[in-house]
Amino acid sequence: MSIFSPSRYITCVEHIDLDALWASGKRAILLDRDNTLVPRDRTCAPDSVAAWLDRARELGFELIMVSNNWHVSHVSRSAGELGMDYISFACKPLPFAITAGMKRLGARKEEAVMVGDQLYTDVWGGKLAGVTTILVKPQSTADLWYTQIFRIFERMALRGVPCEE
Ligand SMILES: [Mg+2]
Repeated sequence: MSIFSPSRYITCVEHIDLDALWASGKRAILLDRDNTLVPRDRTCAPDSVAAWLDRARELGFELIMVSNNWHVSHVSRSAGELGMDYISFACKPLPFAITAGMKRLGARKEEAVMVGDQLYTDVWGGKLAGVTTILVKPQSTADLWYTQIFRIFERMALRGVPCEE
């Protein structure tokens, strides 16, 4: 398992089994925004994502959005719509914002999971912060130009890695 290997690789956030996550002792979910909760080419999260988040809260999970997006207004609006706190301009893969997010939720490393669509920001950052990581497939093919470059390396790194439906 390298620093770039996610603990799990799942097709989308809504397919993460929340009951199993809870049963495994996880209590806090840190979530990337762009292409994880909100498609990069849209401004709102799909209803299915909102429903999954509602279910997470019902179970008792603490949630926070940890986004590299530097448009604070975009991040704060999405976080507000989805009913969670947020940290924007997180500078993942640096682990500091993830660690700060855990602290805000009062969660220990063992209780936290970082979910995101990028290997070189979300997974790497989560690993550096010492938490379980779940990689999901990006919701859309729209990406920032530099993300598109990282996607090339990501595809190479994920070659042969099975993705759970
Ligand atoms: Mg993302």
